[in-house]
Amino acid sequence: MKTLAFYIALASLAVIAHAQQAVVYEGGRLIIGDGSAAIENGTFVVQNGHITAIGRTINAPAGATRVNLAGKTVMPAMINVHVHIGYEKYTTWGAQNYTAENVLDHLQREAFYGTAVTQSVGSSPLEASLQFQRDQQSGKFPVASRFFFTPGYAPPNGGPDEVLREATNALHVINEVSTAQEARASIQKMAGVGIKAVKIWVDDRRGTYPKMTPEVYTAIIDEAHKRGMIVHAHATTLADQKAVVKAGADVLVHLVQNERLDDEYLALLKEKKPYWATVISLGDQTAVCQQDPFFEQALPAAVIAKIRATTERRPLAPSCGPPSANTATREAILAYNFPRMIAAGARIVLGTDTGVHPGHTFGSGEHVELARWVQLGLTPAQAITAATQRPAELLGLKDMGTLAVGKRANFLVLDANPLENILNTRKISSVYLDGAKFDREAQLVRWK
Ligand SMILES: [Zn+2]
Repeated sequence: MKTLAFYIALASLAVIAHAQQAVVYEGGRLIIGDGSAAIENGTFVVQNGHITAIGRTINAPAGATRVNLAGKTVMPAMINVHVHIGYEKYTTWGAQNYTAENVLDHLQREAFYGTAVTQSVGSSPLEASLQFQRDQQSGKFPVASRFFFTPGYAPPNGGPDEVLREATNALHVINEVSTAQEARASIQKMAGVGIKAVKIWVDDRRGTYPKMTPEVYTAIIDEAHKRGMIVHAHATTLADQKAVVKAGADVLVHLVQNERLDDEYLALLKEKKPYWATVISLGDQTAVCQQDPFFEQALPAAVIAKIRATTERRPLAPSCGPPSANTATREAILAYNFPRMIAAGARIVLGTDTGVHPGHTFGSGEHVELARWVQLGLTPAQAITAATQRPAELLGLKDMGTLAVGKRANFLVLDANPLENILNTRKISSVYLDGAKFDREAQLVRWK
């Protein structure tokens, strides 16, 4: 054991020595992530995992390693504020798969596709997740996307849809609260263990679930805000979204389904400017159906075959069937509502809901969501900001989200320019996390 410890110490020293050496990345197009114009033929310096200089011309430190990025485009790594991590294992799905090892695997999948931080929302067990965060912070795990999570709140027998609930019930994940008093006591407990954000479900699933009452969610939001915590609210009807925004929810999750937004709601959005995790692409036909290697590369062949063979369209479940009867209606409402949400001031942030059902690929959904936003009217630069700078702001990550001096060197090197075509975020040449190149090839070998 002593010998092993010695070699581990030696290996970490080597890593530190490597990390401290300055690396100059030069000649690339640099997308900063804050919506400003890209720097053409730009240069940046990375040292100790952080960006120490960036611009068109900079003074490179003597003796630095140089990396030529001519013809490449660099953008900040993404931050995904809404997934459900830990239950997918590609041959099986459920609570039995929830281990630190599997959480890590999902975070490596997120890193592979260019996401530096991944937040699991409402479906991760508290103690195990806190432990995972401590272990990841102390360097116990190989490099992966950084794990964030939020506890979830629902009335007894409410909350996640039936598939996710089966998994979360087995691990007693959902905090079931019936009264304002219970809710406040639970939020106080969460604040005590350092929780910075929680999720509430306000949804009766078409009359089949108990719905959280205004009394309870008002108490949760009020108590959370008193303690500097943020509240994510799942709500899918116009009335419920209005109600949670009025009550002060900080982050809206999902679209209003089947209804056009009205002036009262738009005025409310103008006043409150909530963050908005759209998770649009979850309602689309899965990208795996397009036979695009970008989506298939990290999935076992058996999973791809199973998805292709599934032709019945069900909400959330990946399938390759023909569009369902309400697809056209959904698109029409989306085309109406989306630009109005944005114009009214909803602050769009990246979220994908990946892992909520079996068959989703962690990490690739981000690229689908970006493309959907652009299709619905965002510019590529706005879409990138919503996937980088804004979610960093939401999560309070002051050292992430843009390419700037002092920020962690979390970035993607792309073979083509996503400002010209947002689909080019998929042309990933390499991913760097805290200045170190993520070994995508080794991961692919492991997953296949
Ligand atoms: Zn979700």
